[in-house]
Amino acid sequence: MNYSSAFIPTLREVPADAVIASHRLMFRAGMLRKLANGLFAYLPLGFRSFRKVERIIREEMDAIGALEIKPTVVVPGELWKESGRWDAMGEEMLRAKNRLGGDFVISPTAEEAFTAIVRDELSSYRQLPLTLYQINTKYRDEIRPRYGVMRGREFVMKDAYSWHGDDESLDKTYRTMGEAYRRIFKRCGLTVISVTADSGAMGGSGSEEFMVESEIGDNTLILCRRCDYAANVEKAGCKPDFIPRPSPDCARSAAAETAPYEKIDTPAVKTIDALCAFIKNGDGSAASAREFIKTLIYRAVNVEMDLSAAPGCARLERKNAAEGANGGAVYPEAFFAVAIRGDLDVNEAKLAAALKAGGVGLASDSDVVRLTGAPVGFAGPVGLDALPVILDHSVTGMNDAITGALAKDLHYRHVAYGRDFEGWMIEDLRTVKAGDRCPLCGGELYEKKGNELGHIFKLGYKYTRSMRVSYLDEHGKSCVPTMGSYGIGLDRTLASIIEEHHDDAGIVWPMSVAPYHVIIVPIKYGGNVKILADSLAAELEARGVEVLLDDRDERPGVKFKDADLIGIPCRLVVSEKNLEGVPKVELKRRGETESRLIEAAKAADELAAIVQA
Ligand code: ATP
Ligand code: MG
Repeated sequence: MNYSSAFIPTLREVPADAVIASHRLMFRAGMLRKLANGLFAYLPLGFRSFRKVERIIREEMDAIGALEIKPTVVVPGELWKESGRWDAMGEEMLRAKNRLGGDFVISPTAEEAFTAIVRDELSSYRQLPLTLYQINTKYRDEIRPRYGVMRGREFVMKDAYSWHGDDESLDKTYRTMGEAYRRIFKRCGLTVISVTADSGAMGGSGSEEFMVESEIGDNTLILCRRCDYAANVEKAGCKPDFIPRPSPDCARSAAAETAPYEKIDTPAVKTIDALCAFIKNGDGSAASAREFIKTLIYRAVNVEMDLSAAPGCARLERKNAAEGANGGAVYPEAFFAVAIRGDLDVNEAKLAAALKAGGVGLASDSDVVRLTGAPVGFAGPVGLDALPVILDHSVTGMNDAITGALAKDLHYRHVAYGRDFEGWMIEDLRTVKAGDRCPLCGGELYEKKGNELGHIFKLGYKYTRSMRVSYLDEHGKSCVPTMGSYGIGLDRTLASIIEEHHDDAGIVWPMSVAPYHVIIVPIKYGGNVKILADSLAAELEARGVEVLLDDRDERPGVKFKDADLIGIPCRLVVSEKNLEGVPKVELKRRGETESRLIEAAKAADELAAIVQA
């Protein structure tokens, strides 16, 4: 391809809204232009690299036996109403009506569409397991599209879905998919960290995210310095830094020495910090946050846990059992008290997962007053029976604590777990922080920021039950298949490659995804230089090497700058001065500073070997 016809509108200046390298460089290298906020067009150079990422993904999917299909991007709203996500997706999902008034969705993801396709065709266990995928456009009406194609509104995702007769089969595909993802990212030149992730209320039993480290990443990763434990903070556990009391009985005996609990006046002192300063220890020092039991009232929605025997829940509204994604009852709204040691924070993703809830958030002030009989700031687990009390593990280690007394301006001290209160549920709910101990090996945990490139997910029966998929097993019995889903964002992968592979001069493409393998830069394209440059290009192309020949009438400096900016892995300079005697050309690898002279006659073979390495 000749540069003069390639439509590579490089820019010297940086777009004002581009704050990360990949965003800047995709614009400057003439790969990408913006149509509107979150909507981007790939120009020829960008699209070539995009298609290489696509090819790598397709090859790895095909290699594990996933079958590519091409469904539509516009999907009937009915399917989303069946799965229950028509309401749950909120404003991120773009909806449209057709001329007859029918509801449609511009796919933000495609569990529903794929499940509907499979539902109509699946009849026998012999058809399972089945893995289908597409590489197709998605639209999400992101509130804040940013960082170019890293978070756009329209993007392309490879999304695969699998159906299975049993958990072992799902496990196997899930693992195979994870291995394929690792190969994909490696081939793209990316260093990814795979972390265990929150599988939310999906009824799933496993979920893994593939992250790249990034200062602008919106995920916090928790990693162990000693072993290979790695988790999204939403899911991360840690070794308790106390001896957990496994039972109230055990705790009662530990509390035997503690003085009986008593009320203390705490006029208008509500926050833990203010309480620490206010409540002095025996020696006059301020109390520490670790001595408090912090009790927060949460409102949860779409709770799938059985609450029939939970305190205060007997009269809760329940939805028809059949509507539950897991085939059980669903409570549209329920309230819970969560007690945790004062120096720790509740991890709401873990709480939602423990409750099998669609979402959780702090209750309103009026709900707190109604449920605890006291204003915000005075809740505590002692005597709290209007709602289920969920204890974080940390609380089971406390036998001389300070906590709210369910009355304005009053707290209790000398409160002991097991003796003075118990929990309806005991769970690991704390937000893990750097410095906490690894749940596997006890090593020190640290944090990194990461960007999610891919996600594999055991969905279980959420969609197959709600959308009534079934097949007959070998005994002729009707069964519901279990399901997995697996996504990779192509645009974000491409941008992340640039994040990892660039320098001050521009992009430094890994060979596998470079728009062209070689750029030939003739110094004055004419005469013998033109003859050699053209023949080198032809020889290289005959060997399957992709060549960009800079035939422009530009100064060498301009050509070199552009070659560096667009990041072509190998640069061949053809110049009159090296054509005396045995003709030579100058080879420089992008990312290296030194160039070397090679014989023109051997250049094609040498470069073909570099490209294929
Ligand atoms: P995020 O938390 O970043 O919004 P997500 O959890 O919504 O991601 P998934 O629904 O798991 O993402 O989608 C699978 C993949 O699709 C992501 O790993 C990412 O690579 C890509 N992706 C998701 N949203 C966007 C977006 N707005 N722009 C570009 N790629 C995206
Ligand atoms: Mg998202």
